[in-house]
Amino acid sequence: MKHVFIVGGTHGNEWTGITIVNHLQHRILKSPKLNLEFVHANPKAFEINKRFVDIDLNRVFAPVHQNQNLKAYEYTRAQELIGKFNEKPDGFIIDIHTTTGNMGATLILSQDELWHKQLALFVSQKLPDVKVIFAIDHSKKYVATQLTHGAIIEVGPCSSSVNNPIVIDQTIELCNVILEFIASEAKPQGSFEYYIEKEEIHYPLVDGKLAAMVHPKLQNKEFIPLKKGDPLFYHFDGRTQSFEGDKVYYPIFINEAAYYHYNIAMVMCEKHRMTV
Ligand SMILES: [Zn+2]
Repeated sequence: MKHVFIVGGTHGNEWTGITIVNHLQHRILKSPKLNLEFVHANPKAFEINKRFVDIDLNRVFAPVHQNQNLKAYEYTRAQELIGKFNEKPDGFIIDIHTTTGNMGATLILSQDELWHKQLALFVSQKLPDVKVIFAIDHSKKYVATQLTHGAIIEVGPCSSSVNNPIVIDQTIELCNVILEFIASEAKPQGSFEYYIEKEEIHYPLVDGKLAAMVHPKLQNKEFIPLKKGDPLFYHFDGRTQSFEGDKVYYPIFINEAAYYHYNIAMVMCEKHRMTV
């Protein structure tokens, strides 16, 4: 039997994963080949209906691995989760997230071993509308990279602290295809399209305060190519700031609510195709 951790609520105000873990386990694929363990990653953050209590749980695993002396709640929680995952070192992690960005259903992979590429191909063949993003996590700071085999589901647009039934359905569908891949031990061959994160774009600031917002022509335009001269920001003084890069980029997480905390307006990706 293969052990699969299905993780919801890494971010306490992303209700989709929490609702699946707490109430909709019956809609997750059952297979005699799979042993499913549902994990509510950050219950205290959910109690206060915030992304996190002290610090973002999906960024803290790297310092925990470095044995830094850390006091925040999420460090303790990360240590508990590492202990749980390490009981099943050959297991699989599926970490469920939502985004306020207009991302649709996306599969984010933070490792790039053959297994991850085969998973991406399998998902692309079964669910052609799902976008695949490689965001390699060298420092192992994410929940999903705590075991060799992990994947992140990210679906949007979804408001924080909302059960959006469309988003929940998309999430369950993608989760079940990932589980089908794990159970089947399929070794698909072929090629698939994927995006790779290259660069974060920050909001313009004046005296440390926001001076612009995402340009209306860019809002909701995830995965649509952005070229030199295309509108990027609308400055509060009425000026349009254009994209000045020389390469064509595909923006994602445009105007993501949680990223204002980091002053990130969007993440630029390149689009590629891979054969496995
Ligand atoms: Zn999240």
